[in-house]
Amino acid sequence: MKYLQTRALVLSSRPFGETDRLLTLLAWDEGKIYAKAPGARRVKSKLAATVELFTCGSFLLYKGRTLFTVSQAQVETSFRELLVHVEDYARGLYFAELVERLLPEGEPNPAVFQLLVNAWSMLREGKGDRELLTRFFELRFLLLLGFRPHCDGCIFCGDRNGPFYWNTAAGGIFCESCRPAQQPGISLSRGTYALLKNLQRVSERELATLRVQQAQQKELADFTGRFLQYWTEPGPLKSLSFMAELRGRQSPGE
Ligand SMILES: [Zn+2]
Repeated sequence: MKYLQTRALVLSSRPFGETDRLLTLLAWDEGKIYAKAPGARRVKSKLAATVELFTCGSFLLYKGRTLFTVSQAQVETSFRELLVHVEDYARGLYFAELVERLLPEGEPNPAVFQLLVNAWSMLREGKGDRELLTRFFELRFLLLLGFRPHCDGCIFCGDRNGPFYWNTAAGGIFCESCRPAQQPGISLSRGTYALLKNLQRVSERELATLRVQQAQQKELADFTGRFLQYWTEPGPLKSLSFMAELRGRQSPGE
């Protein structure tokens, strides 16, 4: 039997069979994998705490024909605090769901692992603006997967001053005079464009100190939303509708 000892993040943990759980893990050495946690739903199970969503643990797994099975596991860091505030929970879940949906199975990607740990930590510690952290996560995750939007000036004439318009079909930005009349695209003002470029390179520490205007936040969210929609076909992420519902509850007047 093939054993694997690895650090892993729990991306999802679903009831499976009578007493088991089925986990999607992001393992440091193996990338995204699926694993069964036998008996994890029993009251006295030693595995119960380790196989919860938002856990970073040390796992001993053995590899079966279709699934890994958790043999032993210990909690390294728990991000359980994200379960306390519904807003943090929704965002933490969204980050996990994006990774679960878009990362190919069985391809190690330590940079994505680190990005997710850092994002969960920042949410837990309440550092910086949550909405901006979400944009940062989306953009950096896509960059790490190689989905780079072409945002180095107008794709037709090369203009670098803006304002620009994101065109999903073309996979790039147009300036005011080059944008096609039939597909006007999503507006990216000069400020939002600068913010987009900035988020692609700032460190997490710098991110925590950034403050941006509401209008730029909205433009950027429209942009990443449209860009991600393209990559997350065939269906939207459940956590996205959950976050939209929360926003609706918080601002019923809008
Ligand atoms: Zn142009």
